[in-house]
Amino acid sequence: MSDLLAAARHAHSNQAEIEGSIVCGCFCCMQTFAPTEILAWSGLDLSNFDNPDAASAGTALCPRCGSEAVIGDKSGYRIDPDFLARMNEAWFQRTIIRKPAPKT
Ligand SMILES: [Zn+2]
Repeated sequence: MSDLLAAARHAHSNQAEIEGSIVCGCFCCMQTFAPTEILAWSGLDLSNFDNPDAASAGTALCPRCGSEAVIGDKSGYRIDPDFLARMNEAWFQRTIIRKPAPKT
């Protein structure tokens, strides 16, 4: 399960990684698509305003469902239906609780 938790980190602040990938997948809707299909990125918020690394690190929004659940193959994970299904099960259905960033 820890590999899935590690993989989930690639779904945030992943702009450079996504843009360097050949194929991306969303573990919310479990679709795969090319990075060029991603039209929207979530921007900076106050929680990372002081982080210089965040300036070029937007978070990809899924072009199919709008979720921040996109991982590119440059992350080192093979983006295929099996991987996305395992991520979906772990992340949205069972064991991992996603903590929202504190709003300030
Ligand atoms: Zn999606």
